[in-house]
Amino acid sequence: MAACSGDGAGGGGGNDSDKPGDLTIGVSMPTQTSERWIADGTSVKEKLEAKGYKVDLQYAGDDIPTQSQQIDQMITRGADVLIIAAIDGTALSGQLQAAADAKIPVIAYDRLIRDSPNVDFYVSFDNYKVGVAQATALLVGLGLKNKDGSDGDAKGPFNIELFAGSLDDNNAHFFFNGAMDTLKPFLDAGTLKVKSGQTKIDQVAILRWQQEGAQKRMEDLLTSSYNDGSKVHGVLSPYDGLSRGIITALQNAGYRDDMSVVTGQDAEIASVKLINDGVQSSTIFKDTRLLAEQAVVAGESFLQDKTPQANDTETYNNGVKVVPSYLLPVQTVFKDDIKSVLIDSGYFTAEEVAAGQ
Ligand code: BGC
Repeated sequence: MAACSGDGAGGGGGNDSDKPGDLTIGVSMPTQTSERWIADGTSVKEKLEAKGYKVDLQYAGDDIPTQSQQIDQMITRGADVLIIAAIDGTALSGQLQAAADAKIPVIAYDRLIRDSPNVDFYVSFDNYKVGVAQATALLVGLGLKNKDGSDGDAKGPFNIELFAGSLDDNNAHFFFNGAMDTLKPFLDAGTLKVKSGQTKIDQVAILRWQQEGAQKRMEDLLTSSYNDGSKVHGVLSPYDGLSRGIITALQNAGYRDDMSVVTGQDAEIASVKLINDGVQSSTIFKDTRLLAEQAVVAGESFLQDKTPQANDTETYNNGVKVVPSYLLPVQTVFKDDIKSVLIDSGYFTAEEVAAGQ
């Protein structure tokens, strides 16, 4: 292991002779098919390199064995801290044990790593609140609520369908729980109806968050439950990639000006353009620059043999222990929020939004 001689928490951390240039941070990201993980990886790398650290950044192509192997290699190549956004949150126990044996602290990035005592810190957003925000955006889009939280003018009943993310991603459960707790009173009152009857997470989850999987499921729903001329008024979608698959299925079925209210997450540029064009209703913006910053702060604390500062020590039980966490807030974006939230903050330029890329 590079420059490691101390018995401290870090592989090389805690050794006073270590300079940033002697220390390597392994950064393991799930996939490059979604824009957010590219932004996350780039941000973490740039911020660490600006402080003089070496960075070993790897993307695993959404393949679990590839991610395991990449982390194994980071450990043998002498990483001093690992920052990991897991593909399957339950599949890395062996790697994490090897990291612990080598005294390498592990930071779970965005997605909690489960079933291992060797997760030292978690940086993420408040994932339950993401789900609440998605469901609230659906209610606002349908006119049942106003943006200020007051009741809207619409009365319903409305047909909705529900989607969730990949079951092996801990976040998918938090998003869905937050959303369902928010929708429950409306479902109970009959204001919202899930015509397919599919309301359990394992009925509505999309493996690996794949756009094509969401498009296929939406097509199947339209065929099985809406072939009587009835309309889908709203779709709870937890991620912009899924939203675009759902929208494609709806457009192929003839939805145009009557497009369903479709939610999202991540403020991916293609979806922000769709929101700007009035096709997708909303997204949830999670500023990956801030998340990257927190990962760097936590990583640096470990390298200096300090404990990173948590702002939540209750929520994230990974099945073995409660992992101290730093959670960031999220923002809902409708069309009229694009400028103030995404453009004014420098996340996108007005030209990028107009072009959608
Ligand atoms: C992340 C979301 C993302 C999804 C699909 C989740 O773990 O929290 O931001 O949309 O994965 O990549």
